[in-house]
Amino acid sequence: MVVKEKKSLVAFLQCSGCGKTYSVNELQTFADCDQCGKSPLVAHYDLSDGFNKDEINQKERSMWRYQGMLPVLDEANIVSLGEGWTPMLLADRLSAKYGMRELLIKDESANPTGSFKARGLSMAVSKAKELGVECCIVPTAGNAGGALSAYCAKAGMRAIVVMPRHTPEAFKKECRYFGAELIEVDGLISDCGKKVAEIKLTTACFDVSTMKEPYRLEGKKTMGYEIAEQLNWRLPDVILYPTGGGTGLIGMWKAFHEMKELGWITSRLPRMVAVQSANCNPIVQILEGKLDTVKNYKGSPTFANGLAVPTPFAEKMILNVLHESKGTAIAISDDAIKDAMKEIASLEGLLVCPEGAALLPAMKALLDKGKIERSESVLMLNTGLAYKYL
Ligand SMILES: *Cc1c(COP(=O)(O)O)cnc(C)c1O
Ligand SMILES: [Zn+2]
Repeated sequence: MVVKEKKSLVAFLQCSGCGKTYSVNELQTFADCDQCGKSPLVAHYDLSDGFNKDEINQKERSMWRYQGMLPVLDEANIVSLGEGWTPMLLADRLSAKYGMRELLIKDESANPTGSFKARGLSMAVSKAKELGVECCIVPTAGNAGGALSAYCAKAGMRAIVVMPRHTPEAFKKECRYFGAELIEVDGLISDCGKKVAEIKLTTACFDVSTMKEPYRLEGKKTMGYEIAEQLNWRLPDVILYPTGGGTGLIGMWKAFHEMKELGWITSRLPRMVAVQSANCNPIVQILEGKLDTVKNYKGSPTFANGLAVPTPFAEKMILNVLHESKGTAIAISDDAIKDAMKEIASLEGLLVCPEGAALLPAMKALLDKGKIERSESVLMLNTGLAYKYL
């Protein structure tokens, strides 16, 4: 059988709060509705003609193998550095140590610019190119800035990156190498967001802040598709995810629902666990009833800088995934993260980023509390490369 490229089935964007629809043929950010306020927009696809598993482009060893379920309409606009289709590793020495049936690590450090941010930014920059954008701007805790800079370089676009001053040097240097303009701000990513708003008043630049731009989510959801395909269309029982803005968590959950609708999977969906830093854990605080909303939460810096997101824009969607999946959220200290980096490195030969390392103490705590069974299949996402932090 000749396998044809599946064209994008994207149909419209929809407000995640009230369901109002928006066109995919115009540049969009988030919804600002009368009833629901400011809410992320989410892409919907027309599945009436179906999309069969065997129409996945097997020759494409990147996230673009799922092109039918991605939002770029004309292939010529795809800006790719080979992101996605990352290794699925069996962490057999760690799982033996904790007496577990199956512990998996999906290693996102193999992505361009060394983090899974590549998936989201490849998608956002591709879609921005399709819609005629010439300059992109982003507030970032580190990795999103490097990824945006690289994809803008590849696309021939201008990039402006706004990053906390305390971020390790490597995160800043890579942006400059890629030709981006780097602006440093005292504070966290939320303060960088304020600086971005200020710059936009005088500079025509498209803001690709996570979840305020609709397509980074579509890039990150491909982790969900890959997990299913790499496990031969079964899913783990539990997925541990280091949660900052929550894009990957929301994205994987979206992918699982899309694959159910497509008929690609029939299994029960995993429980999703949001792992945060003890220094910045707004989602944990909400689940524990200590906070009503993240809006006025103040966090402090952490070694796991990707987790230093005090006011995630998609807070309702994150909470919804944890609720629907019967998951939970848990916070981990920087000291425990550093110990876990050594433990994972010495047992598995993987030097994972601090955000990814936080998942091990989280798993141990949940095993102790009986919230994860040793007989279950557990997947951890190593979201990035450790070397930039050293
Ligand atoms: C951005 C980032 C995270 C958090 O991702 P979200 O999808 O924003 O929650 C986790 N780990 C690393 C390495 C990151 O760069
Ligand atoms: Zn709305």
